[in-house]
Amino acid sequence: MQILNLTLYPLSYLCHSFQMAGVYIHIPFCHKACTYCDFHFSTSLKNKNAFVEALLREMELRKNFVDEPVTTIYFGGGTPSVLQAEEISRITEKLTETFKVIPQEVTLEANPEDLTEDYLHSLRSTMVNRLSIGIQSFRNERLQWMNRNHTAKQSLQAVQCAKESGFDVSIDLIFALPAMTMQEWQQQLMQADALRVPHISAYSLTLESKTAYAFQVKKKQVQELNDHDAEMQFLAAHDFFTEKGYVHYEISNYSLPGKQAKHNSSYWNRTPYLGLGPSAHSFEKNMRCWNVANNNSYIQYISDGVLPLSCEELQLKDELNETMMTALRTAEGLNIETLENIMTPEMYRHFMKEIALQEKRGWIERKNAVIFIPIKHWYKADRIISEFFITT
Ligand code: SF4
Repeated sequence: MQILNLTLYPLSYLCHSFQMAGVYIHIPFCHKACTYCDFHFSTSLKNKNAFVEALLREMELRKNFVDEPVTTIYFGGGTPSVLQAEEISRITEKLTETFKVIPQEVTLEANPEDLTEDYLHSLRSTMVNRLSIGIQSFRNERLQWMNRNHTAKQSLQAVQCAKESGFDVSIDLIFALPAMTMQEWQQQLMQADALRVPHISAYSLTLESKTAYAFQVKKKQVQELNDHDAEMQFLAAHDFFTEKGYVHYEISNYSLPGKQAKHNSSYWNRTPYLGLGPSAHSFEKNMRCWNVANNNSYIQYISDGVLPLSCEELQLKDELNETMMTALRTAEGLNIETLENIMTPEMYRHFMKEIALQEKRGWIERKNAVIFIPIKHWYKADRIISEFFITT
């Protein structure tokens, strides 16, 4: 991968347009640090006002970056529900003023403790129409271990209230927790199903370095769940949710028919997106850019009229590898005809050879021009996909 530059980019470089799918806005604040989390956030909210001002300014600085209509907006984090409804409205108003916004889906990630009746009522006056609620577990002792700021009861109330307030609701769950049994996971699945939300994300806990979880594992205070049990829990979720009418459309995501997340699907379809806020990534054709992952630096640079962006140009092999990585993690799979004209003959030979090999192993199946990983092998999808990677 060729690194073009890891310093600040002149504005002229960024003044070009592309087919837009969505805007991602990173809200870099959390009430507490979760045990397993390595995202960019600060637990001090003292710079929140300055951050919102900087975000509005960043839109102005990047106004020429987007020509096409913005159809999805995603407030991620961090914890976007630390924002007041008025702050959210200021942000979406500025977006609408700056870009051609034709909103189909405007999602706000939210923590259950923030979704009070009053907050939800005020959110109704904003452009937000979808809430992605970080439940993670319905067990209080698990939530305490995760250092979450909410209880199981608050989760149930938040989902109920969000649904009654008319929001499209998605919930997040985590499996493969230390010492998690199948019985515990089955109970979690039943509780999730009882909420009948249109969308569920179920993530396998991963061990990230420099987290409290990694420290606990190192000190032998907890043990990672073994791969076999984690895979069994993944498959149990698949069986359970599909039986209940959900479509397992991406490794970590389930939806009721027609309720797939539009914004996230654009990542998997490799549609371009603009990322605003510290640490936010943007993607366009063969260029990936990311903002500095530091709140103070972000605010300072933006107030000086400088975009704290770093960019890298993806080479053909990087783009192809990323396309395979994202498409093969979905039920839709990968249409190999789309790659035939893009690959060099040498790449194509390597690719077709790998397909034949993986087909023989049963790790890949083919329907006409579309290849996909059978769901029973999805848990090891990353390993399977890496076999296809083009290295030269
Ligand atoms: S709330 Fe989300 S972003 Fe914040 S620390 Fe927890 S997992 Fe990480």
